[in-house]
Amino acid sequence: MVKQKIVLRFPPNIVEQPIIYMMIKDFDLMVNILRADINPRKEGRLMMEVSGENADYQRAMAWLKEQGLIITNLEQQIIWREDRCTHCGACTVICPTGALHFERPSMNVQFDQDKCIVCELCLRACPARAMETPIDNALFR
Ligand code: SF4
Ligand code: SF4
Repeated sequence: MVKQKIVLRFPPNIVEQPIIYMMIKDFDLMVNILRADINPRKEGRLMMEVSGENADYQRAMAWLKEQGLIITNLEQQIIWREDRCTHCGACTVICPTGALHFERPSMNVQFDQDKCIVCELCLRACPARAMETPIDNALFR
């Protein structure tokens, strides 16, 4: 079994195709959508958790790439630069999942990658630029 959070990025000509339906029907995967965006240029991004048999998952990923989608593993997207973090707590207020949180009793901020849904709110909120994404988000600017 595999259980993986991924981001799919769609060029405009694919946005309206029933990709999720195909992933469920043709590849026997379970798909849990975490977030969806379509920018003004009709380019789309879907964040999801996908689970199923490893062979089915690999076949589905190969098929998605053939369709022209860009696939990124979600945990690769947000990086907490602990060396830059001042533990000011600004991110803990806006983080919707508690991925960024105060640890007690030290009251130091910690980052729980498993809870992160890559909403990117912390990227803008962090005054120390301690939250980073290595992914090129140019499509969505
Ligand atoms: S906002 Fe930035 S500096 Fe402040 S606690 Fe969060 S990650 Fe650390
Ligand atoms: S990307 Fe969103 S969910 Fe993830 S740590 Fe930042 S604010 Fe929290």
